[in-house]
Amino acid sequence: MDGAVVSTMVRRTRAETCKVPDLQRLESVNLKINIAQLSTELEILASFSDAPAPAVTRVVFSETDLRARRYVKELCANAELTVREDAVGNTFARWLGSEPELPAIGTGSHIDAIPNAGRYDGTVGVLAGLEAIRTLQRAGVRPRRSIELVLFTSEEPTRFGIGCLGSRLLSGTLDVAEARGLKDKEGRSLEEWRQAVGFAGDLRSVVLPRGHYAGFVELHIEQGPLLEQHGTALGVVTAIAAPSSLRIWIEGEGGHAGAVLMPSRRDALCAAAEITLALEAAARNSGAVDTVGTTGVCDVFPGAINSIPLRVRLEIDVRDIDEARRDSVLAHFRASCEEIAGRRRVAIRTEIINTDPPAACDKQIMVVLAAGAARHGLSCEYMVSRAYHDSLFMARVAPVAMLFIPCRGGFSHRPDEFASPQAIMNGALSLAEALAELAANKGIG
Ligand SMILES: [Zn+2]
Repeated sequence: MDGAVVSTMVRRTRAETCKVPDLQRLESVNLKINIAQLSTELEILASFSDAPAPAVTRVVFSETDLRARRYVKELCANAELTVREDAVGNTFARWLGSEPELPAIGTGSHIDAIPNAGRYDGTVGVLAGLEAIRTLQRAGVRPRRSIELVLFTSEEPTRFGIGCLGSRLLSGTLDVAEARGLKDKEGRSLEEWRQAVGFAGDLRSVVLPRGHYAGFVELHIEQGPLLEQHGTALGVVTAIAAPSSLRIWIEGEGGHAGAVLMPSRRDALCAAAEITLALEAAARNSGAVDTVGTTGVCDVFPGAINSIPLRVRLEIDVRDIDEARRDSVLAHFRASCEEIAGRRRVAIRTEIINTDPPAACDKQIMVVLAAGAARHGLSCEYMVSRAYHDSLFMARVAPVAMLFIPCRGGFSHRPDEFASPQAIMNGALSLAEALAELAANKGIG
C-alpha cells in the first residue's frame, strides 16, 4: 500500500459523515436539475471576462462586471423573479411565496472574480441557486415563504481592499462612513464608483431590516481538496473560520554589513524571523487543527545586501473557527513579540488590519441540507469552511448554512479551477430540496 493511499485512509476516518434524522417530507415532488442549461449559463457567464479563457477576471464595477450582472438579471427575469438592487449593487431576485409577509429564505453568492481566476468560485452559488429555484417552479412547488436569490457585491477585495463589501453592509457590520471612505488604488471612492455605475441611494439603506431572512444557504465550491480526497459528494459546513490580521513594524538599527560587529547589532530582520517563528509556534500550540497562522508579507528596508535591515514590515493572518482560541493565540504571539523586542533591543508596533468573528452554521439548516442530500443517495460530510464567504456576515442577521461541492485538486482562484457538471448538479439538487423544505417550514428562523 503506498503512502498516498494510507494518508487518504487516515483522512477518511477523520471525516465526519452527516447523520440524518427522519425528516417528514412536506410534499412529494420530483426534482430534476437542467444541468445542460446550467452548464451553458456558467460558460456564458465565464465569457464576461477581462482575461483570455479559461482565466476569468471580473473586478467589481468594471464594464465586464456590469455586463455579467445584466446577464444574470435577465436570467432571473426570465424565471419571473422580481429583481431589486440596493445602493451598493447587491442584487435580489425574489420568487414570491404564498405567505409573503413571512421572512424569506435566501440563497446566493458572488460573481466578481479576482484577476486570473476561474469560473466556478461564487458563480456556482448564484447560477445553481437560480436553477434550484427554476427546478422547484417546474416541479410545481408553491413555497410558503418567498425564496430570494442574492448576488453580493464585491466578495473579493480586489478593488476596494476589503472582502465581502456587500454582505458587510447588508449585515450592518461595516460602518457606512467607513465604507464611503473606501478608495481604490487610483484614489476613486466607493461613492464615486457606485454612482457612476448606476447604484444610487443612501448607503445606509443597504442594511437589511430585522427578520428579512428566516434562513440563508450559500452553495460554493469547496476550494480545498477534502471532498475529492474522501470521495464525498457534498460538504455541509458547520462553521466558517475568520481571520484576524495584523501589520507589524519592527525597527532596529541599520548600518554597514561589514563594519558593525555582531554583539552591537539590532537587526530588524533577525527579530522579524523570530517573530514569524513565534507565530507559527503559537498557532501550532493552540491544541486545535483548525487554528492556522501565516506571515504572508515581509518588507525589508533598506533591502540591500550590504546593509543591516533597519526596518521590517510583516503582515500576519491568524484564523480559527473559535474566536476565544484565536484571541488566545494572538495573546501568546504578542507576548512573544514583547520578549523578542526586549532581548533584541528593537521597537515593535502593531496595527490591526481587520478582525472578524467566526460564524457557526445553523444546526437546523445543516440537518435540512444533509436530509436533502440523503433523499438522492448523495454522500455528505460535515466540514469547516477555512476560506471566508458572504455567509460569514449573513450569519449576523440570519441563521446560515453552506453547502460545498468538490472541485478538482482543491484548486481555486486560478484558471484551472474546475467543478464537474455532476458535482454542480448534486449541489443544485440538494440546494433545491433544502430551499423547498425551508420555504415550507413555519418553524425555522
Ligand atoms: Zn467565493
